[in-house]
Amino acid sequence: MTHHLTLKSIRSITHDVNELTFDRPEGFEFKPGQATDFAIDRDGWRDEKRPFTITSLPNAEHLQFTIKSYPSHDGVTEQIGQMEGGETVLLEDPWGAIADRGPGTIIAGGAGLTPFLAILRARQAEDGNLDGYRLMFSNSREKDIILRDELEAMPGLKLDFLLSDEEVDGIYHGQVDRNYLEQADLDFSGRFYLCGPPPMEEDVSTLLKARGVSDDRLIHEEW
Ligand SMILES: Cc1cc2nc3c(=O)[nH]c(=O)nc-3n(C[C@H](O)[C@H](O)[C@H](O)COP(=O)(O)OP(=O)(O)OC[C@H]3O[C@@H](n4cnc5c(N)ncnc54)[C@H](O)[C@@H]3O)c2cc1C
Repeated sequence: MTHHLTLKSIRSITHDVNELTFDRPEGFEFKPGQATDFAIDRDGWRDEKRPFTITSLPNAEHLQFTIKSYPSHDGVTEQIGQMEGGETVLLEDPWGAIADRGPGTIIAGGAGLTPFLAILRARQAEDGNLDGYRLMFSNSREKDIILRDELEAMPGLKLDFLLSDEEVDGIYHGQVDRNYLEQADLDFSGRFYLCGPPPMEEDVSTLLKARGVSDDRLIHEEW
């Protein structure tokens, strides 16, 4: 079913990521971690659907999205970055395989944070803490880190930042590769969550599987 939503507000949260807030359509239910196919309701753009994760709480009055714009793509996210309050979008029903299955290690790259932002917010709202959850959040540069203050304030969350293209005191310099995983003091018999650019997902899932992480303990989007 297609839902028509009006943009209430758009707020810049990094140099290329915006938080968009919409009124919630009646009957629109979702689980934290799910995405929806989203199109801008403008001539020439209605058939250009792209998946985005809903990052608000499942019982909140509004629907929120956290969207990174890629001006170099000349695509939907570039247009989204220029949207203004009052514009409408078209949303399909939610879908997706990423869901909270309990404490574990989350490995996220860039905008791949969004399903886990939804999951961690909902778990924190429910339990008051995130004991047993660890987030490894990889970005190119420090300015790319989404909602760092909110993540650092999440009670009980063990948080590791990585920067691949910039050296910053106190932050691991490099990618989530074999060396990083070896020194990260991980329990490979536990649960892992993964979301990031496709090449990162491919490399990290290969490394985790080589360390004995079985498919049922590796939660990621099915392609
Ligand atoms: C389940 C799921 C959930 C997601 N949730 C979120 C989310 O919550 N937040 C978020 O920010 N993202 C999310 N994404 C990613 C998001 O869907 C993509 O960033 C988005 O589809 C990109 O759309 P686009 O139209 O801007 O660019 P694209 O559809 O990638 O490209 C548009 C055009 O640009 C060209 N192009 C593509 N790549 C390049 C390139 N590297 N250089 C130059 N030109 C290029 C192509 O020719 C294409 O015609 C999610 C993805 C999935 C699968």
